[in-house]
Amino acid sequence: MSKVYFAAARVRKWKYDESMPGKLERLLKEVELSKYFEKEEWVAVKTHFGSEGAHRIVRPVFLRKVVNALKIIGSKPFVTDTVRIRGLDYLEVANQNGINHLSVGAPVVIADGLYGNDNIMVRTGEILGEIAVASLIYDVPAMIVCSHIKGHINAGYAGAIKNLAMGGVSASHRHCGWKCGRGSMHTIGEGKFVWDNEKCAFCYQCEEICPLDCIDFEDDKFNYKDERCWRCGRCTRVCPEGALTLPGDDELFMKSLSEATKAVLGTFKPNKVIYINFLTEIQPECDCMPAAEVPVIQDLGILVSDDIVAIEQASIDMLLKAKPLPESLAEDSGVKEGQDILQTLHKKPYMLQIKEAERLGLGSPDYQLIELK
Ligand code: SF4
Ligand code: SF4
Repeated sequence: MSKVYFAAARVRKWKYDESMPGKLERLLKEVELSKYFEKEEWVAVKTHFGSEGAHRIVRPVFLRKVVNALKIIGSKPFVTDTVRIRGLDYLEVANQNGINHLSVGAPVVIADGLYGNDNIMVRTGEILGEIAVASLIYDVPAMIVCSHIKGHINAGYAGAIKNLAMGGVSASHRHCGWKCGRGSMHTIGEGKFVWDNEKCAFCYQCEEICPLDCIDFEDDKFNYKDERCWRCGRCTRVCPEGALTLPGDDELFMKSLSEATKAVLGTFKPNKVIYINFLTEIQPECDCMPAAEVPVIQDLGILVSDDIVAIEQASIDMLLKAKPLPESLAEDSGVKEGQDILQTLHKKPYMLQIKEAERLGLGSPDYQLIELK
């Protein structure tokens, strides 16, 4: 049975040890990082930099605690993510959201190069075939995966699996384009957009959000540059009318997340990756959206484990027991206490991610929860 360490968000005493940063420091001592990472070893601290308006990411103060804990054992950490918008702009977003060398205490670098095409093809499985893993993640020998737990319009639940599947691979490959990148999970077949003229309100939000300036509405028609498009799906996600969609399949999507995660983790030797799930600021949507909504669930705490399936299962078990927050999308959607909040919001079979990850041998959903005193 895998161990999952947990520190609750509630503060019972007004002292540093009881604070969230203080508890994270204690958690990292408890898991004994030196069992996983060596002196002088480079360790990637994988996080999501957010977007210009989505500030509810894993806060820099926590990343700094992770970096410090690695430095204490003599490892060489750096903080990283893959390109979500153009690379230089993404580094600016990271800086704006407080993630830079000064704040986190380690270099902040893009894992797949400023152009997002620095990657290596890795065999996956029956759904994806192969995928472009960011070269830095491919090469680095060890990693701590820091995931902000939240909802997601496509994935329903977004945790460590999604962080690695989407964030461990590139948007595009130099030769085979989006079909070898994360777009291959976002859509099926040729991934041709479906635009419904009748539903379209011509609000142009899809055009504004596109990181590659692919979209225009010349002659009042939806046009996009097929070759340039990453199939990142940002344009479809912001469409308020459901007028713009990419063909998809929920079951295939969930399973492909686990398949891509397996490809990313397959580039590491055993016992070289640990996971930290931050059940904080649990908002309904992805950190790549242009804004962060208010949380739908109160802060619950921080989980740490070396088993990705166990930590995801433990996170979901906690979310299932949580109460929906008032004046949030949960209340607007009529979620009642005792209901599965993320399922009610997004209506996605998100447990398939965890089941598939278990089937692929990535870990076990059986866990022992060890709560910090
Ligand atoms: S999927 Fe949409 S937002 Fe993303 S690159 Fe293509 S057109 Fe732009
Ligand atoms: S976001 Fe949707 S409704 Fe708005 S212009 Fe684009 S397709 Fe039309």
